[in-house]
Amino acid sequence: MSDPSRYLPQAIEERWQRRWRELDLDDTPQEGEGEPCYALSMFPYPSGSLHMGHVRNYVITDVYARVQRMRGRRVLHPMGWDAFGLPAENAAIERGVNPADWTEQNIEQMRGQLQRLGLSIDWKREIATCHPDYYRWTQWLFLQFLEAGLAYQKEASVNWDPIDQTVLANEQVDGEGRSWRSGAKVEKRLLRQWFLRITAYADALVDDLPSLTGWPERVRTMQANWIGRSEGAELRFSVVGPDGTARAEPISVFTTRPDTIYGATYLVLAPDHPLVESLTSPDQALAVAAFCDLVSGQSEQDRTAEDRPKRGVPLGSHVINPASGATIPLWIADYVLADYGTGAVMGVPAHDQRDFLFARRHELPVRQVIIPEGSDPQAYLGEAWTEAGVLIHSDRFNGLTSAAARQAITAAATAEGWGQARRQYRLRDWLISRQRYWGCPIPVVHCPSCGVVPVPPDQLPVELPRDVAFSGKGASPLAQLEDWVNVPCPKCQGAARRETDTMDTFMCSSWYYLRYSDPHCTTLPFRRAAVDQWLPVDQYVGGIEHAILHLLYSRFFTKVLRDRGLLGFSEPFERLLTQGMVQGITYRNPHSGRYVAPADVSDPNDPRDPQTGELLEVSYDKMSKSKYNGVDPAKVIDTYGADTARMFILFKAPPEKDLEWDDADVEGQFRFLQRLWRLVESCVQRGLTLAPLPLPAPASSEADRELRRAVHGAITAVQADLEGNLQFNTAISELMKLSNAMAGLLEAASPAVAQEALRSLLLLLAPFAPHLAEELWLKLGADGDGGGDSDGGGSIHRQRWPVADPTALVRETIPLVIQVKGKVRGSLDVPADADSATLERLALASDIAQKWLAGQPPRRVIVVPGKLVNLVP
Ligand SMILES: [Zn+2]
Repeated sequence: MSDPSRYLPQAIEERWQRRWRELDLDDTPQEGEGEPCYALSMFPYPSGSLHMGHVRNYVITDVYARVQRMRGRRVLHPMGWDAFGLPAENAAIERGVNPADWTEQNIEQMRGQLQRLGLSIDWKREIATCHPDYYRWTQWLFLQFLEAGLAYQKEASVNWDPIDQTVLANEQVDGEGRSWRSGAKVEKRLLRQWFLRITAYADALVDDLPSLTGWPERVRTMQANWIGRSEGAELRFSVVGPDGTARAEPISVFTTRPDTIYGATYLVLAPDHPLVESLTSPDQALAVAAFCDLVSGQSEQDRTAEDRPKRGVPLGSHVINPASGATIPLWIADYVLADYGTGAVMGVPAHDQRDFLFARRHELPVRQVIIPEGSDPQAYLGEAWTEAGVLIHSDRFNGLTSAAARQAITAAATAEGWGQARRQYRLRDWLISRQRYWGCPIPVVHCPSCGVVPVPPDQLPVELPRDVAFSGKGASPLAQLEDWVNVPCPKCQGAARRETDTMDTFMCSSWYYLRYSDPHCTTLPFRRAAVDQWLPVDQYVGGIEHAILHLLYSRFFTKVLRDRGLLGFSEPFERLLTQGMVQGITYRNPHSGRYVAPADVSDPNDPRDPQTGELLEVSYDKMSKSKYNGVDPAKVIDTYGADTARMFILFKAPPEKDLEWDDADVEGQFRFLQRLWRLVESCVQRGLTLAPLPLPAPASSEADRELRRAVHGAITAVQADLEGNLQFNTAISELMKLSNAMAGLLEAASPAVAQEALRSLLLLLAPFAPHLAEELWLKLGADGDGGGDSDGGGSIHRQRWPVADPTALVRETIPLVIQVKGKVRGSLDVPADADSATLERLALASDIAQKWLAGQPPRRVIVVPGKLVNLVP
């Protein structure tokens, strides 16, 4: 572990890293026009320190990019910063630093850490979402959505974080109704908010999922579930008010089970449904008010949790079941949400588990209308039958199956005016307003006479003012800046006010991959020619935690921008790899729950709490500060070098699986690279170079044949590991096997075969351990391809990926006699272990067969394995 044992000093690594940046390894075509290839990692939030999860993400993408480049493709491999968000603002509140300065400093720091990994990133295309020359275009795109009718404001019940003093998206509230960042119990508040109409694209977002064959099945399923499309019917129930009079407006419900309509024995509204007040009878008013009050303090998660009591209160009004004509009571219940569907559901206790529990608790009638096919209509099931079946107690629909009844009842409802077929989605419109400073300002002005007026495009960006006071309390800091807020209306020049909400950072990250294609464009977010040339992204790599929102929003943006004519494709990411977590060894005291740092555990075989002496629990968990189980990438690079860090992280587990950090395995990769170093050094001493020599004739030595078989076997295997699923771990195993074979065979092999082996080994190694490969390439003479060092032609990273020679894979050969009608007509070299079928095929394909059979298939073929093939015409 001491520095003298490091085969490649840090200074050399850094020299190569600088050199690669000068060389523009990236998107410049190397020779001629290669096919474009876009390799993309999900860009990081600039927290200031790189963690192992980042390292894994970027190294996977880098190896992919380097391999594609060596295969002759022009590769776009950019990096940037998802740079708006709460932490910068919290730093401003806590430490008085300016969020822009804080962010810039973190970017500097992390860029330096990234460069130490030797990533072949095109830094000329670097972007940061907090720079005005980027967010100008986020604002421009927002105006596109506004113009298309896809951005709108509405008053909505929102999640309010009382600590961060901000509105949270539903997905930023955890299962216990707490803020994902502050951990505070989230409250409900009513505010006027900006939304994007993602629901207008719900069908497209579901329907295109099957075309994403390069995505993990799991991610596609998660997206489909999130959108939650269901087919069913909207049914209308007419209302009888608390005074017994019929109301003009019916109540609509959505159901996926119109076949159970005759079983609807009550109807439930959300407590905040607009009709609740007018449909509450005087004697229920107190109970209803108390119940609404109780519910308003609960999170959505609390209200809809499966295992809690189904609470509700009757309103004192009724509705008419449109199919049976029965009068049934109207209730409110906490499990019905106002902004989901119509905010009303029909209660069918006999055929829905939740309704069944609700009916039991509140003594509502249970009316069975579906029975399992072939069962006795009289037999009461005693619980909810939620499957399909055959209809009973359903008048004219009795005897139909559920499937037939769904159609028949929906058709009857349509014909008679009490309903129609409908689709419903779980997906809701995307709330993008944030009452925060450190985000992209929403580019509109509120005018008392003109209403919402977009800021004219030539006045973009609406820049964030710099001198702002951060108290962390109350409204957004922007709202307090009178100079900034008060502006003339762009339309009527009257006094108006700027919008003070900023955008959800998911807005900034929904299009950054498009900007990389044309990062310096000053007239548009990107030009169509550039974006259509590079996209869709060939390989996207990132964490599974972004499987839903980021990917869904990006797909939504792409489809909207396609419909606006700004780009010419429908899906942004062709292949997606979600890399697994990096886990560290974690020591926890099971009694106190306290975590103990590995450095404080004196004997890993008998781990004890240093304070109490109690035995500690050992597990592998995602690296985190709070568990003291993180490994700092910088320390690993300091000790072993960047290549070892890269190799370990790729070797230890397949990219999509979780990876357990293990120092011993890091050492193992380090020793492997050291062995390679010594292997090449010994070759240099023996005068071997990279210059290709004419290969010896087939009748060369056994060592030559064996070495060539190992080399070309490795090329074939590594190639297969890099196709489809990126199995870098097995590819590295192949490299280890090859280096072992070479260690035993190089001395006995002829110089030409030895040089071919060396060359191939280094080329295969280059994407994985780029520094070592480059250094060894140089040691072995480097300019074999004629390119001078001045234009980078000598760099191993400008070389072509090796191509396997299938003949080298053939085992020992033997001469096979070919007879035609029993007469010897010639002989053929064939693999010694070829089976009869192979021998027959080889014989028929031979020149001898062509000549003597004159194109006619033989009547009979006699094969004597290992000796002869007799063709009988
Ligand atoms: Zn105006």
